[in-house]
Formats: sequence, structure tokens, C-alpha cells
Amino acid sequence: MNTEHVVHHRKKRILAVDDDGLVRRSLEILLRDAGFEPTVASGGQEALGFLTQRHFDLLITDIRMPGMDGLQVIRAVRDYCQEMKKDPIPEIVLTAYNDEAVRQSAVRLGVKEFLLKPFKIDEFLKVLAHNLSQ
Ligand SMILES: [Mg+2]
Repeated sequence: MNTEHVVHHRKKRILAVDDDGLVRRSLEILLRDAGFEPTVASGGQEALGFLTQRHFDLLITDIRMPGMDGLQVIRAVRDYCQEMKKDPIPEIVLTAYNDEAVRQSAVRLGVKEFLLKPFKIDEFLKVLAHNLSQ
């Protein structure tokens, strides 16, 4: 069996972190309908738990969350990948239109992609495609 072939054609796994249950549910449905394999987490600790169990191709995280905020989640995921000698996972931040200060902090951290909430589905899918390696 050619394992490389299977790996190449598997669904892209996306880890989505948001403390809002409705957002999580929407993301899960959207991502699944778009042909991805989503895993949703309600916070940083849960997300990091999933990260130790399987490989992810993309991280989507909310910023404002109780406990770890999104920027802390991003830092922790980067640290984990570095420690485990894994490739960095592309990051997309979910942020509200009026959250310019938070957005600036994310930029300083080196986050390149933002999805503004509420987002349009076609824009969302375009950003995902752009950030997923083929
Ligand atoms: Mg939130």
C-alpha cells in the first residue's frame, strides 16, 4: 500500500477554537460541508489536547476567550510544533470588526490572516484555500 498516496488525498484537518458554542457549531458545519475534517475546541487547553492526538493542517482561533486568549493559543501551538519538530501550522484569527487593538497585537505576533466576524462564506473558503498547502 502506498501510504504517501493516502496521505496526499486525505481531507485537510482544521482545528477551530472559539468559546462561543454557536460559532463552533457553524464552523464545524461549514468546514465539513466544504470537504474538510474539522475539530472544534472551546478553549486553548482543549485545543492543545487535540493537538497532541493528531496532525492539523490549519488553525482557526477566536481571540477573546476566557482562560487562554487566541494569541496565547497561537503561541502555545507554535511552541508545541517547534518542540515536536513539526512544521508550523498556518494560523487564521477570527476577530470582530471593532477589535482593532486586538488585531494589532495579532499582527505584532506575526499572524497574517484574519477573518472578520461576521464573515461571508465565500471569503472564508477563499482564505482557507489560500492557507492550506496543496
Ligand atoms: Mg470569543
